[in-house]
Amino acid sequence: MTDTTPGTEPRAGTFTSYSPATGEPLADHPVDGPERVGRAVAGARAAGAAWAALPAARRREHLLRWKRALAAELDTVARTVAAETGKPAGDAALEVVLTLEHLSWAARNAERVLRRRRVRTGLFTVHQRASLVHRPLGVVGVIGPWNYPLYTPMGSIGYALAAGNAVVFKPSELTPGTGTLLARLFDAAVPGHAGLLTVVTGAAATGEALARSGVDKLAFTGSPGTARKVMAVCAESLTPFLAECGGKDAVIVTADADLDTAADAIVWGAMANAGQTCAGVERVYAVREIHGALCEKVVERAGALRPGAQPDADYGPMTLPAQTAVIERHVRDAVAAGARALLGGPGSVRAPYVAPVVLTGVPEDAPAMAEETFGPTVAVNAVADVDEAVARANASRYALGAAVFCRDRRTGAAIAARLRAGAVSVNSVLGFAAVPALPFGGSGDSGFGRIHGAEGLRAFTGVQSVTVRRFAPPVELTSFGVPAATRERAVRLARALHRRR
Ligand code: NAD
Repeated sequence: MTDTTPGTEPRAGTFTSYSPATGEPLADHPVDGPERVGRAVAGARAAGAAWAALPAARRREHLLRWKRALAAELDTVARTVAAETGKPAGDAALEVVLTLEHLSWAARNAERVLRRRRVRTGLFTVHQRASLVHRPLGVVGVIGPWNYPLYTPMGSIGYALAAGNAVVFKPSELTPGTGTLLARLFDAAVPGHAGLLTVVTGAAATGEALARSGVDKLAFTGSPGTARKVMAVCAESLTPFLAECGGKDAVIVTADADLDTAADAIVWGAMANAGQTCAGVERVYAVREIHGALCEKVVERAGALRPGAQPDADYGPMTLPAQTAVIERHVRDAVAAGARALLGGPGSVRAPYVAPVVLTGVPEDAPAMAEETFGPTVAVNAVADVDEAVARANASRYALGAAVFCRDRRTGAAIAARLRAGAVSVNSVLGFAAVPALPFGGSGDSGFGRIHGAEGLRAFTGVQSVTVRRFAPPVELTSFGVPAATRERAVRLARALHRRR
């Protein structure tokens, strides 16, 4: 299953997870096939019916209890995340904290966001009371990635549960222990709802079984290539699909920007988590006047970073060892196409701890500018003006996040409004990901649909429109008994009104 890391032979029907830092085996996990996945979905359906029938306030209590259990076990959860991904303990703890923020928001806001809403009726429907209701979908399947193995899938799991659904979760085969621990803590904190959150483990075949299992929606997070395959499977049964995929996020730096703030944020956005962040910074467009000064500051800060296994490391190893070859190819191709390596270079990209790479003058069609690199590298290109920066930022197949650095906040917000990205931060990077009320998601190769915020709750519901007749109307148009003259009068009235308004 984890074919890139040496280790002991797994038992039949199981696979082994490994530490990306040491290559040591961590634990064995079952390879769940279609039968086990089917049982999990059936169990979730039964548990989900009771969960959906609970008053929203009860669901909120249960979810907040789970949140408190996660907070109490923060160190254990962070240790598991760190062991499976290799990220430093502090980064793993921050991932748990962000997850708690989101779970808290989803639990506390579901009732308000999803409550029945009255809507106005029209000319011929004044006798009706009209409202819309958000109903849970039933069972939501969640397929997760390995880079933020808790925070990312919880953007679907926490919100789907808060909206009244049951969940079957397949974590990445690189991080199965994190998923299993999450479900164990849920079962302990929410007794009496066994099967409501079930984890199935395995690789692509387990994910495919989940996509074929008859779930009511599949929320996928991963690469666009895999999203296409999973969506094709979902298409066979018209299973609704939500795709949170990769990014090639751009940062625009204007002439008046605070360059220290910009450089600091760019280096963190590009290098944190070894660059393995869907909305990480990969491209920077700096106007020519400040390009040289910005590059110097970026190189100085990136050059001071210390990746490694030590407790105070700035970032850890590549979680997926095969990614190192992709990073090396992107850097090598860029330099061959005329880019200048300001820090590191093709020769410095070595597993498992890839040292920071800063490039400049990278041709826009080079893979380092066009494809997701997913490593601790950043390209800082010069542009003539903000218009060129916006055009280049928007020219990507991806459209997930972006950032603008600009002294005047209002001008920054105006530039943000011209960007195609699903989320933009002004004078910071990734600010949007930490605000639970803000929806998160992209377009193009970054996927579609939204998690987080009110949209993220609604994403796991179906809307039911309801009308209730309050009294017999003077003109009942939905009856064969309506006289032709009445119908004609109604049409004349409507025509007269619509011509005027
Ligand atoms: P991946 O596409 O390789 O795998 C994602 C998940 O899909 C894993 O659980 C995997 O087992 C499963 N899978 C693989 N093949 C499958 C198939 N045929 N059918 C069903 N399931 C299948 O992605 P990854 O390497 O785990 O994660 C990295 C990617 O995720 C990057 O592109 C990153 O940008 C993206 N990502 C996006 C977000 C976001 O919210 N937009 C967040 C984190 C990561």
